Amino acid sequence: MEIHRFVSDLLSSNMYLITEGKAALVIDPFRDTSPADGLQIERILLTHEHYDHISGVNAWKEKTGAPVLCSRPCGENIRSPRKNLSRIFEPFCELQTWIRLERLPDFDPNYSCEADKVFTDEMSFDWRGHRLRLSELPGHSEGSIGITLDEMYFFSGDSLLENSLTELRFPGGSRKQWEMVSLPKLETLPDGMKIFPGHFEPFQYKKTM
Ligand SMILES: [Zn+2]
Repeated sequence: MEIHRFVSDLLSSNMYLITEGKAALVIDPFRDTSPADGLQIERILLTHEHYDHISGVNAWKEKTGAPVLCSRPCGENIRSPRKNLSRIFEPFCELQTWIRLERLPDFDPNYSCEADKVFTDEMSFDWRGHRLRLSELPGHSEGSIGITLDEMYFFSGDSLLENSLTELRFPGGSRKQWEMVSLPKLETLPDGMKIFPGHFEPFQYKKTM
């Protein structure tokens, strides 16, 4: 198995491909579908509903026919340009303090897409000899999740970034949900687990974060 990271043209969000031979899963696809060439994409997974993480869902769905899987609130919010924040992408970019843009990237203020399967709280599935566990982590957004792969790797979306606090101020964000639901789940992650975040480089989890 290999994990490949690609950096998008929208706020440098990370897209990941998990490959096993020619079979692959994609997490948070962006608009460039060329990384799918030569691969059989079997599922599209979304860490959360924000536009910079879902901008390629329609293009990847059309190209690969793979079904989209995410949490129930994510599945509801990606259908609305207001809730996936494409409608307010310009102020959203200004609020994302980790990146300074000289020029706004091209974006579609009416972007929406659809999930094929949603889950509540937690779901697991086996894929090509690997175990994936998806678990809701509300706080950064209503539909945020963490994706654990083989109990060794954790795709955190925007819920866990290296050296920066989790952003809870966007529409749909909730400090209460974050503290009550998500922090206790994140505290169960083992020290040293490899984290693949929604922005920046992968890093090792440390409990003091
Ligand atoms: Zn986000």
